[in-house]
Amino acid sequence: MRILVVEDDQNLNRQLADTLKEAGYVVDQAYDGEEGHYLGENEPYDAVILDIGLPEMDGITVLEKWRAAGRKMPVLLLTARDRWSDKVAGIDAGADDYVAKPFHMEEVQARLRALIRRAAGHASSELTCGPVRLDTKSSRVTVNGSALKLTSHEFRLLSYLMHHMGQVVSRTELVEHMYDQDFDRDSNTIEVFVGRLRKKMGIDIIETVRGLGYRIQPNTNG
Ligand code: CA
Repeated sequence: MRILVVEDDQNLNRQLADTLKEAGYVVDQAYDGEEGHYLGENEPYDAVILDIGLPEMDGITVLEKWRAAGRKMPVLLLTARDRWSDKVAGIDAGADDYVAKPFHMEEVQARLRALIRRAAGHASSELTCGPVRLDTKSSRVTVNGSALKLTSHEFRLLSYLMHHMGQVVSRTELVEHMYDQDFDRDSNTIEVFVGRLRKKMGIDIIETVRGLGYRIQPNTNG
């Protein structure tokens, strides 16, 4: 899952990015509204954390422009405490949720997880496919109850496929959601990660759809 953080406070931006990376996300960072707007318009994010008070272009304007251009990714706004009018303007502009400053990182993470889940059509924080369980809260994966040791890339790949169960996901799409903008991307590595995941899981839930990509089928037996 790839997240964009738009926040002009350098410390807060770094804190958010570090926490999210720790939790297994790929993070792009922007420090003003124009840069943030450009990235959100051109890169595929699974969610965005957007500050309202930004230099160059304020957060509400950034959000309005994205929505007007048909960008649908979930957006979590960072608002100043007691500025109820900001919250109203933000939600009217197309925000999916907000957190008032100062906040606890745990709250931001929980709201973000919920937004990503809902955008993918899942109500529960745990995604399952047969014996495979992915806990979005702890970023842990188990097969038949035993924990899997996954690298961050393997986890991101599995997490993306499980959030999009039933859909064929192309290698290009996977690459776009697994690496940040500065990474030298190579879609051939996806095949390697899929191979390793299959081996580690010992069960083949990842189906190769020839010429198109990969798919994890949802449980058919409930
Ligand atoms: Ca600010």
